[in-house]
Amino acid sequence: MYDYLIVGAGLFGSVFAYEAKKRGKKCLVIDKRNHIAGNIYTENIEGINVHQYGAHIFHTNNKKIWDYVNQFTEFNRYTNSPVANYKGKLYNLPFNMNTFHKLWGVVTPDEAKRKIEEQRKASGIRHPKNLEEQAISLVGTDIYEKLIKGYTEKQWGRSAKDLPAFIIKRLPVRFTFDNNYFNDRYQGIPINGYTEIIDKMLAGIDVELNCDFFQNRDRLEGLAKKIVFTGMIDQYYYYKFGPLEYRSLKFETKVLEDTSNYQGNAVVNYTDRETPFTRIIEHKHFEFGNQEKTIITKEYPAEWKTGDEPYYPINDEHNTQTYKKYKELAEQEKDVIFGGRLARYQYYDMHQVIGAALVAVEKEFNPSNS
Ligand code: FAD
Repeated sequence: MYDYLIVGAGLFGSVFAYEAKKRGKKCLVIDKRNHIAGNIYTENIEGINVHQYGAHIFHTNNKKIWDYVNQFTEFNRYTNSPVANYKGKLYNLPFNMNTFHKLWGVVTPDEAKRKIEEQRKASGIRHPKNLEEQAISLVGTDIYEKLIKGYTEKQWGRSAKDLPAFIIKRLPVRFTFDNNYFNDRYQGIPINGYTEIIDKMLAGIDVELNCDFFQNRDRLEGLAKKIVFTGMIDQYYYYKFGPLEYRSLKFETKVLEDTSNYQGNAVVNYTDRETPFTRIIEHKHFEFGNQEKTIITKEYPAEWKTGDEPYYPINDEHNTQTYKKYKELAEQEKDVIFGGRLARYQYYDMHQVIGAALVAVEKEFNPSNS
């Protein structure tokens, strides 16, 4: 008999398992995949840590979370500074003075501000009705056309005119020569890859891989006093209020034998509409690697249907209302804790998942403090 059955060996489930074990609890962690670590899984191929589920850069402003994750690994000094490729021309991201200089030849922040303001005014948009109008009203037409439109349309599989304005609340525009994508104080890539972090969290804990909760539900539910569930909340309730919708992704990874440096940067976004993928990741550059070969991954956004890998929740009105119904059921459960991106139907960065898992731990083991 276990104290906890933890469904999902991703970051949420693993932090919970580690903390429960520390408190003398016995856990069984299961995952339907053939590996631990969920979406932060990295695999060492040809000496390069390959991010198998897309580029993962750890960043946080929270010292407590930074210290927490550093007990399992050491991070390097990687700074995320992606480059945009629009029809063969390269622009720095996020939108900053380097981008504005390349777009318009402007030299000072005032010149850049004037240029954006001119374009915003010329558009005449006062009350944006869709994502296109919202973006133009925030940053003007040039940035929108070259750096936002195609990328966003590929990501959502729809015209920006048919997407709601609320998707873009604000767009970070920086009037300094600073290509650092994140504003956070702490940032980096774990030196031996992300899988090692989860490996250490799960040390000494029973783990069963290739084990789908729903295919073994009766057996598994009888094994533990409580369940920590990090799978899809709608599936947990047999989709009784209908399925929650997602966008999916397809990854195409290649080892390149003939070049040691394909694109000179870890992340290059392709912002035109015609190129079918949104970005190319060159994994070695996350770790300043100097191996003889290189490995790249093309990331293609994809429609999602039940059974596909769910990546990005679609938090529109319909799905928000559906999720609310599942959440009400979940809140009534005494012996099931729902956590992580799939059970909360929410996009979480890694630091947010760790934070949420530590809150769940506090609530479970120290209820009077939480
Ligand atoms: P997951 O990692 O998905 O873990 C859930 C686990 O549960 C999975 O292993 C799954 O197989 C298992 N499971 C589900 N259902 C069942 C079942 N029925 N039976 C058994 N097991 C089951 N965050 C950052 O901070 N920085 C980034 O740069 C970043 N980049 C990202 C890029 C992409 C493309 C994506 C998709 C996400 C990115 N993230 C990033 C977010 C990061 O991946 C998540 O925060 C984190 O992986 C979520 O952990 P989790 O435990 O909630 O979910």
